[in-house]
Amino acid sequence: MLVDSKQLWLWWSILLFVGVYSTPILNFEYHNYSALSQYLHNMATAYPNMTRLYSIGETLRKHKLWVLELSTAPKSSFGIPSVKLIANIHGNEAAGREILLHLIQFFVTNYTNDETVHWLLENTRIHVLPSLNPDGFEISVEGKCEIGPGRENARFVDLNRSFPDHFQSNTKPRQYETQAIEDWLSNNTFVLSASLHGGALVANYPYENVMENTWDAAYRLLNTSELSNKMSPWSHLPPADMREPYPPSISPDDDVFQHLAVVYASTHPTMHFGYPCNRMDREFQGGITNGAAWYPLTGGMQDYNYIYHGCMEITLEISCCKYPLTHDLPTLWDDNRDALLKYISQAHQGVRGVIRDNNTHQPVLTSGLKIEGRDSYFRTSSRGEFWRILLPGTYQLQVQATGYEPQTIKFTVPQKRLEKHLTPTWLDVNMPPVVRKATVVSDQVLLPTNPPDEASTVHYTATQKMFLHWKYDTENERDNRNIHDNNRRTYHNKYM
Ligand SMILES: [Zn+2]
Repeated sequence: MLVDSKQLWLWWSILLFVGVYSTPILNFEYHNYSALSQYLHNMATAYPNMTRLYSIGETLRKHKLWVLELSTAPKSSFGIPSVKLIANIHGNEAAGREILLHLIQFFVTNYTNDETVHWLLENTRIHVLPSLNPDGFEISVEGKCEIGPGRENARFVDLNRSFPDHFQSNTKPRQYETQAIEDWLSNNTFVLSASLHGGALVANYPYENVMENTWDAAYRLLNTSELSNKMSPWSHLPPADMREPYPPSISPDDDVFQHLAVVYASTHPTMHFGYPCNRMDREFQGGITNGAAWYPLTGGMQDYNYIYHGCMEITLEISCCKYPLTHDLPTLWDDNRDALLKYISQAHQGVRGVIRDNNTHQPVLTSGLKIEGRDSYFRTSSRGEFWRILLPGTYQLQVQATGYEPQTIKFTVPQKRLEKHLTPTWLDVNMPPVVRKATVVSDQVLLPTNPPDEASTVHYTATQKMFLHWKYDTENERDNRNIHDNNRRTYHNKYM
């Protein structure tokens, strides 16, 4: 059937109308819980082929912790890395929440016309949690740039001090929100993560805590009524440039973390200048800082991701004002858009592959993966896939799995090639099963067994190693660290 030009125009008009009105409109304004939920549902409905909406839990106030997954990679595709972006863990640090909503819109509306967006969606699973603390946000106040209501959750608990801590015991009771994150991390294998905060302009990387509990005095000082009665809790401190910086707490993947922080800070138009937001902060060289070197904290989400789940997370302080005015949102989005895209793409830097049984070719699941020389373990997905972000160089992957001979595989991550996008080195690892035979140890006879929880066994070993390493360091550096003790006593919780 021939269609004349009038009919064609009519059909185009109808398609255009449907297209425009099926895309949820996102204005530059703050969205409360119900508006945020509605927007995410609308997005999931309008873009079913590139989004998946799910909740990882519920808060005390019965607000769901919504996650929108963005990807066009088929579920069956192997080796697709998962990245997560989290905002608003501190309910009054609100800009990140809106930036992530705009990031969602940017991805789904630019899939066909932006080559980078298209490539990232085809090759990455991007999980976006715009608000980890919706209860806190609901009582926060726009325009409150420093301390204000809503930082904590509905139980008045700071969520970014409530995670299990490797370095110091954390007695804070588990919260709904932190438990949801723990379950989320246990059920998924995330490669890369970022948590968006406000109150400073810097990319902060692990570790954010130190082994010895030398910060107690400072915490006690902070909690005294004398301090809390003052207008500003750190008004008694000397200016930042008159204090020595705290010693950094170096992780085994410090080179990678510094790289990730630099990628973000250097892509952001002003973060890399490293200017302090207030007189109590020092300048951040290149706009990045080791977490503990800025100020150490216990129970943070960043160290928890890395140490307990092998996920590399950094903390992004994206605005000097914690809850900027609405009219600042367009600039904040512009400042962070490209930095976020470039940061997400780092999940494709390094090595990835799959671990299989040499005989059956079935996937082998283990958390006994490490890069030689780096005392930091990571684990496979439920399909035997693994990912690790590494800078160019030659490495050895060490694989331990119960019932298999340990394997060490040498590989190279090449310098950036000519291709536009990062391409990781792919490794197929075939694990030869252990030949069952009796082993005599003193008067006991042990048979190789398959303990049900190999993952936690191996991780425990790694954690113990790290613990010993830190104890050794601490003893050696004690004299050095004592020099800093006076500074520590004036340690101030920056409420970041
Ligand atoms: Zn914060």
